[in-house]
Amino acid sequence: QWAAPRLGGAGGWGRARHSSQAWPCHCPRPSLSGELEGIRGAGTWKSERVIASRQGPHLRLAGEHGGILNFCANNYLGLSSHPEVIRAGVWTLEQFGAGLSSVRFICGTQSIHKDLEEKISRFHQREDAILYASCFDANAGIFEALLTPEDAVLSDELNHASIIDGIRLCKANKYRYRHMDMQDLEAKLQDAQKHRLRLVATDGAFSMDGDIAPLKEICRLAEKYEALVFIDECHATGFLGPNGRGTDELLGVMDKVTIVNSTLGKALGGAAGGYTTGPKPLIDLLRQRSRPYLFSNSLPPAVVGCASKALDLLMESNAIAQSMAAKTQRFRSKMTAAGFTISGQDHPICPVMLGDARLAAVMADDMLSRGIYVIGFSYPVVPKGKARIRVQISAVHSDEDIDRCVEAFTEVGRKHGALP
Ligand code: PLP
Repeated sequence: QWAAPRLGGAGGWGRARHSSQAWPCHCPRPSLSGELEGIRGAGTWKSERVIASRQGPHLRLAGEHGGILNFCANNYLGLSSHPEVIRAGVWTLEQFGAGLSSVRFICGTQSIHKDLEEKISRFHQREDAILYASCFDANAGIFEALLTPEDAVLSDELNHASIIDGIRLCKANKYRYRHMDMQDLEAKLQDAQKHRLRLVATDGAFSMDGDIAPLKEICRLAEKYEALVFIDECHATGFLGPNGRGTDELLGVMDKVTIVNSTLGKALGGAAGGYTTGPKPLIDLLRQRSRPYLFSNSLPPAVVGCASKALDLLMESNAIAQSMAAKTQRFRSKMTAAGFTISGQDHPICPVMLGDARLAAVMADDMLSRGIYVIGFSYPVVPKGKARIRVQISAVHSDEDIDRCVEAFTEVGRKHGALP
């Protein structure tokens, strides 16, 4: 069993453990403390809990006695601590070293990088794939490389921040359509007919609401208005669809979606890394032009080894991909029967809708005091008045884990007036 290292120095976790450097006197001092106070005052301060064990359904938190049941990781398939994934990471670390000290095109491509790219494109049934240090980077790199000022990009208003930032970096004409609103998308596509190329960009599954993009309809409109479709599959790869290929497999449009970006840092072993998979000429172009790929270090071998093994496990059988559907269903139906409203559609992201920000925060704290780790989300992460506690189900939660979580929610909900 894994032993926790000795944590922290005399200062503990709350304080800086190194002497602080004074602000250089030749530079004007921005009002950082004012800004920090502003964040605290707005109630949007994000604090970080320190985990003293591996990622998994059962955790130990630094400074807390006893185990915690964890319902807030993207470890959808439980592969982050899967013994075969860990063994593969250790083996690859020993065979290929800690890292490449180089970007890919200078001195940073090993056989394992090429093998993983081939495996990713086989998994998604696409022509080719390119690795990045993260999906944030994949999203930051694609729009600028692909689109010119003569083109247009049409983006769902609730797309992930990394898509929004990636689009900001490109010079194409930008359209933002209302969340999953196909009438609005069609109107924007009509307006965008004046541009050379159109690209519709959407999350496959949206991480705040657990809802799934209407890809069939998006692809129909894309065909009608001669547009390409791009999906971000971070919350779908590995577990949506009969073989875990993602939202496009679930909705039967694998041959209609042109570009898929996704992460290795969630269901596929959880280490880090991202990728784009799609037509070979596009991937070739990204290798030449995509800035986060060209100017950032190669993915470390251990990370490549873990992700590669995760994909092997998924391609050997669809049992792992299917293993979480029943757990998700159990949680959603028991919580609904208890009187809670759960947003989204059959997705392991299960937002327990509460409305009030304070209620979400105190309920999440009270859940932790009962040994259940969940996180409350409120404005500006979600719209005002739509605060929630986001619960994420993993294939490695047992039925008992899920029932304990529902029982705790019911008690805490009654105590704080969220349930009658
Ligand atoms: N896209 C979506 C929808 C995400 O949820 C995330 C991660 O939170 C990312 C992109 C970024 O992925 P990565 O952690 O690999 O940078």
